[in-house]
Amino acid sequence: MNSRRDFLQKLTASAIAIPLLSSVRAWNEPIHSADNPQGSVLRVALMGLGGYASIVAEAMQKCKRAKISGLISGTPAKLNEWGTKYNVPEKNRYNYETFDDIKNNPDIDVVYVTTPNALHHDQVIRVARAGKHAISEKPMALNAKDAQEMVDACSEAGVKLLVGYRMHFEPKTLEVIRMRSEGEFGKIMFFQGQSGFRIGDPNQWRLNKALAGGGSLMDIGIYAINGARYMVGEEPIWVTAQETKTDTVKFKEGVDETIQFQMGFPSGAVASCLSTYNMNYLDRFYLNGEKGFAELQPSTGYGPIKGRTNKGELTQPHITHQTLQMDAMAGIILDGHAPAVPVDGAEGVKDLKIIDAIYAACASGKRQELNI
Ligand code: NAD
Repeated sequence: MNSRRDFLQKLTASAIAIPLLSSVRAWNEPIHSADNPQGSVLRVALMGLGGYASIVAEAMQKCKRAKISGLISGTPAKLNEWGTKYNVPEKNRYNYETFDDIKNNPDIDVVYVTTPNALHHDQVIRVARAGKHAISEKPMALNAKDAQEMVDACSEAGVKLLVGYRMHFEPKTLEVIRMRSEGEFGKIMFFQGQSGFRIGDPNQWRLNKALAGGGSLMDIGIYAINGARYMVGEEPIWVTAQETKTDTVKFKEGVDETIQFQMGFPSGAVASCLSTYNMNYLDRFYLNGEKGFAELQPSTGYGPIKGRTNKGELTQPHITHQTLQMDAMAGIILDGHAPAVPVDGAEGVKDLKIIDAIYAACASGKRQELNI
């Protein structure tokens, strides 16, 4: 049997739910014009022209199915510079006051929101009310309640909401998920996720609770949370967590420096994770089952991702993550493709429910039950 189809069929039986298999097609299979009468290229407006938008914009130059068609920024000079560089006409450039007018612009299908975390909620809702699809960067909001409001607003407006989970399209990651879902590691017992880096400039928005919503957990620890879910293939039912802070000047009240957290899954598997803004070289996933193991290190950086299992090195090619992601998202938005691991708003809400519970566990010192 076709191994990808086999993989997708197995996934339906796991905790990662995907829609009807009859509508499932690999994101990189060729698109036939009859499938996509509106056009086969996703026209993307980038909102928030900062560091990550620059990476997405460069990566999109190699996309086959997505192109930059609009720009939204509060800085006129950036709109000019990016507009010239990426050939975006003035009529498709907006600022934060004018971008609701995008509803009258037939050149734009989707707005990719890459602003600081606290802004995603209102901006995505405005995009939805303008009748455009939205992609929100992670974390999609500051808490699960806000994230759910975004899902509801997009649903009411009849538009799609995706979250920028680029690892969900990364070939070595997908191979580990395939192996796990086909039982090659046996019953999963344990996951370890270590996600961190040493943060620089003390004045950046990532260290401002109002804009970031927290600290390392919101920004980098979310990779260990999300990774635990797709590596184990289940949703956690409880968390415990402990916070340590060595620098109370840099990491103010509400901005976590380091959090260790543990999760339990319905099968009995457990996860042990570390999220930090105070250590470098911390980007590693380890999955242990009764019959084998998988290790990814680095596991979520921009790559190349490296990994091995009990069967040997993972040899899938490195392709720029954001190129893969945007081509795949074109398939999801334009053609209704279902990715092997979901990237929709509901997926983002789940991570935020876990984040809410981890912060609650740090504050109370008590185990938090989860219902995801
Ligand atoms: P950044 O500071 O480099 O860029 C943020 C942009 O938002 C800037 O252009 C800034 O001018 C603009 N902005 C608009 N309103 C603002 C306001 N009120 N305050 C501050 N800036 C404002 O940040 P970044 O690293 O590009 O991160 C942006 C988002 O992307 C975050 O949500 C982050 O978590 C996410 N991100 C995701 C990845 C990934 O791999 N998926 C990587 C990096 C960042």
